[in-house]
Amino acid sequence: MSATPAPSYVVAPEIHTLAVAGAASLFPVRRVYCVGRNYVEHIREMKEGDERDPPFFFQKPADAIVGNGAQLAYPAYTSDYQHEIELVVAIGKGGSDIPVDEALDHVFGYAVGVDMTRRDRQREARERMLPWEMGKSFDQSAPCGALHPAAQIGHPSTGAITLSVNGARRQTGDLGQLIWNVPEIIANLSTQYALAPGDLIFTGTPAGVGPVVPGDVIEGSIAGLDTIRFTIGAARARSQ
Ligand code: MN
Repeated sequence: MSATPAPSYVVAPEIHTLAVAGAASLFPVRRVYCVGRNYVEHIREMKEGDERDPPFFFQKPADAIVGNGAQLAYPAYTSDYQHEIELVVAIGKGGSDIPVDEALDHVFGYAVGVDMTRRDRQREARERMLPWEMGKSFDQSAPCGALHPAAQIGHPSTGAITLSVNGARRQTGDLGQLIWNVPEIIANLSTQYALAPGDLIFTGTPAGVGPVVPGDVIEGSIAGLDTIRFTIGAARARSQ
């Protein structure tokens, strides 16, 4: 019996990761799920939907994740590029049809993320009944700070969630205002997909979303978690 040879690849494989606060090890990102609307005041500012509708989900690609301190290229194909501050849940143990009262056992930890959005494309998709991809699932659309293990910080269910642009407060909310809380989100999502270690869930944004432009400095904070800070750069240059 000869040993199985290590696999080789015809192009370089990529692993997308998030930092873990206070640890050298990284969290490998498998999928990025996002809750569509989860704070009443944001549903009202977007003038959409019934506030009691069940949660709905969309995905961003794993390579949309960028870490703290990044400079994001202003994306192509939009003139209304907006921020949405969100609590991010990292899944450490997979499962399907997870009961609400067991859901927190599946959480590895929490981070501050920003669901960057091409709002013009999202509105267009809504009006024309098209998929949300162009509005939500583009390059660098998911800046996310370091993960804090639940084993160290517990499971935050209340606390301020805020975002500022160039030092001016834009978004203010409290995790206690989530329409669907973290256990309910995990339970619902796991009826639609088998969750696995490495999955992230962006849990929705409070009111105050708005546009950013090149040169802006964005800071997002959630009580008890590391702040995320990133800047908006010029549009990306053409590449081969
Ligand atoms: Mn969002």
